Order: sequence, then C-alpha cells, then structure tokens
Amino acid sequence: MSKKHLHPETLAISAGRPQSEAGVGLNSHISLNSTYRAGGEINYGRFGNETWQELEIAISALEEAQSTLVFASGMAAITAVFSLLPHGAPVVASHEGYSGTMSLLKRYHAEGRLDVRFVDITDTKEVISQLQGAAFLWVESPTNPGLDLAEVEVIIGEAKKRGMGVGFDNTFATPLNQKPLTFGADIVMHSVAKYLAGHSDVILGSLSVKDPALYSRLLEARTSLGGIAGPFEVWLGLRGLRTFPLRFNRAQESAAILAKKLAAHPAVTNVRYPGFGAIVSFEADGNAEHAESICNASTLIANATSLGGVESTWERRRRWERESHSVPENLIRLSVGCEHIDDLWNDIDTALTQG
Ligand SMILES: *Cc1c(COP(=O)(O)O)cnc(C)c1O
Repeated sequence: MSKKHLHPETLAISAGRPQSEAGVGLNSHISLNSTYRAGGEINYGRFGNETWQELEIAISALEEAQSTLVFASGMAAITAVFSLLPHGAPVVASHEGYSGTMSLLKRYHAEGRLDVRFVDITDTKEVISQLQGAAFLWVESPTNPGLDLAEVEVIIGEAKKRGMGVGFDNTFATPLNQKPLTFGADIVMHSVAKYLAGHSDVILGSLSVKDPALYSRLLEARTSLGGIAGPFEVWLGLRGLRTFPLRFNRAQESAAILAKKLAAHPAVTNVRYPGFGAIVSFEADGNAEHAESICNASTLIANATSLGGVESTWERRRRWERESHSVPENLIRLSVGCEHIDDLWNDIDTALTQG
C-alpha cells in the first residue's frame, strides 16, 4: 500500500523514519554537523541536514506535497517566499492576518519592495478585482485573530487562471481540515511551532510545494537567507508531529463545544468560531481592562500569546500595539489545548465570573 493512501493519523506516525533495516533505530538521529566529507549529497550544514529531511518528508506526506523545506521559524519561511518576488511586484493579501506577516508586508509596501493590495479576504468580488495584473496572492484562512474565512477554492482558482503564484498560511486549519496544494496553491506555509509540533517548546517553520523548480528556488532562498533550523528543534518538532492528529482532533472537538458554551454565556458576545480548528475568539463584556483581568483570573489557562500547544492559552489580542485596530479591544483569543473539556469549561466560567 502506498503511503499516499494512508490516513493522516497513520502518516504522522509512519512518515520520515530511517530505512527499515535490521539493527536500525526507529527514530531519526539528531545530526549535529556543520560540515560533511566531500562528494556526498550534503556538503555544509546550511545547505542540508539529515534530521531536517525526516521532518520534511513527514510534513510533505500530510500536505500531499512533493517536497518540504523546514526553516528556523514561520517568519523565516514567509521571508523566503517573498524574497522570490521581483522588486515592486504587485501582491494581493488580506488586511487582517498574522501580525508578523502583516508587519512584514506593510514594511515591504512602505519601502516599495512590494506593491501590496490589502483586501478584505472574505469579500470574494473585491479579491478577484484586485487580482487583475497582480503577481502573487497570499492567503491565510481562517484569519488571525478574527477567524474569518475566505472562499479559498474560488480565489485560488481565479489567481491561477491569471497565472499568479499563490502562497497559503495553513497554520490554523492544518492539513487535517484543508490541503491547499490540492486546490491549486503553489506553496503551503506552516508555523510548525503551533499544531504540528504542538508542545510550546520550539519555534520552527516550513514551506511545502509540488513543483520541483519552485522547490529549487526556495531551497536557494533558504540557503542564501540562512534562516535554518537547529537539528535538535527539528527533532523535537518531529517527535511532536507523531501525535499531531491525536492532539488536534481532541482540541478541535473541545473548541467546538467551548464555542457553543461561550455563545450562551451572559458575559460574552461575538463568539467567532469558523466551524473547525481549535481557536475560538470572543469578546468579553466590558472594557479592555476587564478582558485583561479575565485572562489573568484563570488558574488553568495561561495568559500567554501563541497557540497550538497541548496546554490551553488565551490572551487579549489588542495588548499588542501592532495588532490591527480593527480587532476589538476586548477580544480574547483562546487556543484550546488537550485538557479535559469539563476542567476547561469550569475554569473559563470561573474566570468570566471573577475576572
Ligand atoms: C505563529 C504564526 C506565524 C509565524 O510563525 P513563527 O514560527 O512564530 O515565526 C505565521 N502565521 C500564523 C498563522 C501563526 O500563527
């Protein structure tokens, strides 16, 4: 049976293992080498690494990609993508998204490096009209932190019709909900630090592609920009990835239940949950300080940024100066982890009352 036909739960466990030969360990080695004897596949530690390759194979299997490149962070991966575009290239991107991506695109736009057309990604008509004459479409859906959905298959189809390149940040949805390469995206990016690694202990990123020529260009970008990951972090990422479907399915189930309970809570308004994923955003009745005190009143859920770990976290997004001002001051973004649902709800309910 080819690996292609295995379920993601199985792929996450079986892909990216050393060759099955007598006496060979089941797990990859942490390859700590800056240089290699000449004449082989890898010559220098910035060009490649055996530990990277195993995580790359596993992510490729999950995203139905031909190949994957791991990076030191999601932002290093995104930087490599935009480095491929010529100076001043017209790019279409959502005006709301991951704050690091937004800051980068806004700066590139201000400097004239890229000509970014910021759109409401949920407004398919507007997106399509802005695609005219553009070179590249960057999609994040659901968006962070508003959890808006784009009509991804439609807008990607329209971009491809116009011969544009398409990059997709699939960090929130994960390949368990959508595989953008299968509906036409050229590049799928992950902040591997989130669900794929899943233990809030590493920062890593990845890019997955189908096209070998694009792979070569991105490999060259990683090599020359130098945003390479440490082998130990990559090994931890692969260890985490083995349980990614188990963790994510559990967190997603709990998130759907919590979204319903939050919507029925008298101290909560505007619950945003796109119907899948493990992030729930909501507005706490009252002002920013009240939302802040709710986040601090929890005994189980850490008031902390980031998401995708086994441990639930939440934060008031506007505590960040650079967060978009279209995000309400009292919006709390909850990243649901793998704790027991009853414990989570008790904790949230108590924090909402006492905060
Ligand atoms: C965290 C995150 C990133 C950035 O990744 P880093 O690994 O922190 O550099 C990009 N996109 C989304 C949706 C994220 O959540």
